[in-house]
Amino acid sequence: MFFLTLKAVIPIHFHYMTYRLQRFRLESNSSIHKHLISKITATGPISVAEYMREALTNPVAGYYVKNDMLGAGGDFITSPEISQIFGELLGVWCVSEWMAAGKSNTFQLVELGPGRGSLASDILRVFSQLKTVLGETDISVHLVEVSPKLSQFQAECLTGDNTQPNDGDQPVYRSGTTRTGLPISWYRRIEDIPRGFSVFLAHEFFDAIPIHKFQRTEKGWREVMVDIDPESPGKLRFVVSHSPTLASSILIQKDENRQHVEVCPEGGVIVQKLANRIAEDGGAALIVDYGHDGTKTDTFRGFKGHQLHNVLEAPGMADLTADVDISYLRKMTGNEVTCLGPITQRSFLKNMGIDSRLQVLLRNCHDPSTRAQLIHSYDMLINPEKMGHRFQFFSLLNRGRLAQYRGMQKNTAPLPVAGFAELDMQ
Ligand code: SAH
Repeated sequence: MFFLTLKAVIPIHFHYMTYRLQRFRLESNSSIHKHLISKITATGPISVAEYMREALTNPVAGYYVKNDMLGAGGDFITSPEISQIFGELLGVWCVSEWMAAGKSNTFQLVELGPGRGSLASDILRVFSQLKTVLGETDISVHLVEVSPKLSQFQAECLTGDNTQPNDGDQPVYRSGTTRTGLPISWYRRIEDIPRGFSVFLAHEFFDAIPIHKFQRTEKGWREVMVDIDPESPGKLRFVVSHSPTLASSILIQKDENRQHVEVCPEGGVIVQKLANRIAEDGGAALIVDYGHDGTKTDTFRGFKGHQLHNVLEAPGMADLTADVDISYLRKMTGNEVTCLGPITQRSFLKNMGIDSRLQVLLRNCHDPSTRAQLIHSYDMLINPEKMGHRFQFFSLLNRGRLAQYRGMQKNTAPLPVAGFAELDMQ
């Protein structure tokens, strides 16, 4: 699997330029490209956020709407697709947080952007194994997925396609029963999920949410826009807007000291909704992505066929992504929840016992190629040079969750939250 690309890693590809030129000739006439050229011709340059939204989630031709982008035949690979251990450890985390929060009678597992459904599938296997712990709890599964195509993959993976698509524009657009016997529903928006104690998971979800880009200029902050290249009218290019836009007036922090900034206001709104639900209904959220703490500048990039791809070429045919500004997400939660992290994927998985889990799997596996695969995927997940340090775990918890710890321990004991505790837990 060495040839597979992680979106967090920017590969240096020897034939990059040749590749870009070829792809442009092949795919520059994507329907979204034509649509955007007409739109910009009619009304002027568009924001990077609008460009990204159209390219990724346009209801007819958006990248996520019509592609299966994950895995060897796709454009990038993610942790849940690399190893079952990843999902299993996150499953243990979900149950551990449900227990620590007082074993609510109802338990909603909510995943945002579930891709092929591999993470939820591994988690549900853990739930089955921990049946005696979960007892009579009323567990249900809720998936927020914008892509009809991916929702079909998820249905197949999680239910064996034991689902019914619902009519028209209903908030629940598909529902059924998982292979493990739990009710499962699909939504386009978080607000349509029923209220109640929930554990929310978002793995490589926030990096796909549209960002605005801003450039510091002599005249102050200006928004970076997408325009038609006057030298080559079929091509798009970045321009800096002449005057402030609404976004540049409201999204830049007063104490900002970078020269170039990316802000994801839609991601901020989503995290506010999660925080609000966790505060009112109980539960937790685990956000996993390649991120930074308000320090990075220009991270917007594209991927196609496991290669870097020019973001302005063939929109809708390639993945577009930007590193997640975790400091911004933290700010947007307000004071409603307790935030933990970010902590690296390596530390989180080590704290969750990945080494012991690997040993158990190896002990029960005698096929040399499967053993090699297990060790290789373990290394992909935790090696600091691979995914170990690039991916960050960030959690939102109900404020009651750590109240006792704060009052009594004076922070001398390890945090009583699985994955975020010191390594000496193992
Ligand atoms: N979590 C999976 C997939 C990551 S790809 C994994 O790690 O393997 C991003 C996922 O988010 C896809 O399922 C995509 O269809 C979904 N997605 C992207 N933008 C979305 C949006 N605005 N609303 C809901 N889902 C979205």
